[in-house]
Amino acid sequence: MAEENIHWADQIAKEVKERVEKDPVLKKIVEEKGFIVYDEKTPSGTIHIGSGRGWIIHDVIAKAMRDLGLKAKFILSSDDIDPYDKPNKELPKSYDKYLGMPFRNIPSPFEGYKSFADYYFMQVVEKFEEIGIECEIQSTGEQYEKGTFNAAIKKVLDNSDTIKEIFEETYSKEYNKIPFNVICEKCGKIATTKATKWDKENELLTYKCEKNLVDWAEGCGHEGQISPYDGNGKLPWKVEWAAKWPSVGVVCEFAGKDHFTAGGSRTISIAIADQVLDFPPPYPSTREETGKGYEFFNVGGKKMSTSKGKGFGFAEMFNYIPAQIIRYLLVKTRPHAVLDFDPEGRNDMILLYERFDRAERMYFGEETDDNKNEVANQKRIYELAHVGDIPDRMPKQIPFTLAATVIQVGLSEEKAIEILKKTGHVDENIEGMDLHYVLQRLRDAKRWIERFAPEQYKFQVQDKLAEGIEIDDKEKEVLKKVIAELDNELGEEELHNKFWELCQENDVKPKDFFKAAYQVLINKDRGPKLAGFMLSIDKDKVKKLIESL
Ligand SMILES: [Zn+2]
Repeated sequence: MAEENIHWADQIAKEVKERVEKDPVLKKIVEEKGFIVYDEKTPSGTIHIGSGRGWIIHDVIAKAMRDLGLKAKFILSSDDIDPYDKPNKELPKSYDKYLGMPFRNIPSPFEGYKSFADYYFMQVVEKFEEIGIECEIQSTGEQYEKGTFNAAIKKVLDNSDTIKEIFEETYSKEYNKIPFNVICEKCGKIATTKATKWDKENELLTYKCEKNLVDWAEGCGHEGQISPYDGNGKLPWKVEWAAKWPSVGVVCEFAGKDHFTAGGSRTISIAIADQVLDFPPPYPSTREETGKGYEFFNVGGKKMSTSKGKGFGFAEMFNYIPAQIIRYLLVKTRPHAVLDFDPEGRNDMILLYERFDRAERMYFGEETDDNKNEVANQKRIYELAHVGDIPDRMPKQIPFTLAATVIQVGLSEEKAIEILKKTGHVDENIEGMDLHYVLQRLRDAKRWIERFAPEQYKFQVQDKLAEGIEIDDKEKEVLKKVIAELDNELGEEELHNKFWELCQENDVKPKDFFKAAYQVLINKDRGPKLAGFMLSIDKDKVKKLIESL
């Protein structure tokens, strides 16, 4: 198969494998730890949906690596030792007193969680099963405590001159810091301390907790001397990023493209990894090249911001858009492609479901394409995107728009299933997996109708003729003739043909007939495909509405 037809995750897995084989440093660490695909997130508040893109990307790459026979895993670390650096608007003012402290040492806003960090991180982690993410969760603070970063910390402090050079060269301004933030032994703040001296021999840092080091948190003035190891503090962000790579054994780590700009955090981290830690930075970077981060993932743009103005939360989104569909969208899209998904848009959701269904049919051999690469690609996307075990035969598919129609006609799942049976879309004795999939589709459609669907897809079947409706006599006549046809047990196509026949016989423009029918049935000028729609509505109801004209 030509390379351009390989799924992007398989391509990356292959490239990383080749890279490791060629690099003795990587080869050694992979022998010890396996292929580590890594990502990290600061749990400073509700986590935005955009972060989800990175998690899916990393999850899929790790899966592709395992499919190559590699021992690979995805580790997601909570950067819970980072300082609370600006007030979280979701929390009361009383939380301001914790500004400057590590998130993991701040009490949880809700009982039942270990800390502030734990609370916000759990909101997303508990959704991982639903979205099919398999990963090992780590706490960066705990890794500091365990001493995972001790060796890197020593190298960084012993070589702080090189780090100073790297920063000064990149930013053309003075860097006068010892790159380590001690947690003040007196007040517990990490953002307010400044290390003043590194005693290389005794491996001790002298530090001062300063009153005015930052303007958003006040230090206590304490001065002390402490070991930088085992969780007594942390490396500053860009240095820490580099330190994690050899310490954890990271061979692949993407981040949003904003980190990959010239002079951005990735460039600095690469230089530190290369010059101070002598470790090749993870894919997509090399010692020489920064590489490219993944593009942003926007759901619904600004329209979908929460009341707190923070954008759409990762966990919140699954209340509206099924995890399976979001996962499919992110798996099929290359990381470098911009992703603006608008569930309110005319077609985004419908198209996404149609494509998912098509990939599913191709996977199970129920549909094919002359382009064999396309079929192979769709199968692979389906495989990587599927949440949970893939069933051994194709589950019953109901088109999304049909589901949206029958759930609005039936108003309950039971009634909707009845309609699907009556109209021949599902078997009379549907059960088990098939029933489960159909019900799921009905629920998906219902949520879409309630929250996002454009007006044209929403309707309510009328109980009685809406006031003010005026139908011309000619259209009325055709409608009344349609009633008579309803008793003839016509199928959808036959009924549709009958509409055209009757229009022709009675010299009525089909356009006018359809409009009249929709006005009578749902008090709108348009609606779902009329024949199927009419058959899905209770026959007596249709008759009553038309007879009342
Ligand atoms: Zn202090």
